[in-house]
Amino acid sequence: MPSNEKPRLIPTGKCWCGCGKDVGLGKFFAAGHDKIAEAALMALKYDGSVAQLLHAHGFGSHHSVRHAAVTDPDCSWEKCADCNYSGAPASIANHRKKDHPDRHALAQAIRALGGT
Ligand SMILES: [Zn+2]
Ligand SMILES: [Zn+2]
Repeated sequence: MPSNEKPRLIPTGKCWCGCGKDVGLGKFFAAGHDKIAEAALMALKYDGSVAQLLHAHGFGSHHSVRHAAVTDPDCSWEKCADCNYSGAPASIANHRKKDHPDRHALAQAIRALGGT
């Protein structure tokens, strides 16, 4: 099975941070508790260090996690066509509007002329 395959998780009605709170239908966490759970796991397993986290998964300065995210077909991350920026589709769209406004305008002009 592909390394990126995730199990399908079903919300249980209780907050997954373990606080015991009831949460709404279809929700895993009470408001903000996803961040608390993430921080607790980071502290527990990686001394709260993202460098430790990356290293534990085989990533670091010589093995780019960003590159891996962009090239994995199961991952939604994309790379900007005009620079080295990478991110989720929504953040790529924001980045392009902010950092390549001329390109954006050019692309729109081309599209308006019937090109691709
Ligand atoms: Zn909680
Ligand atoms: Zn860019």
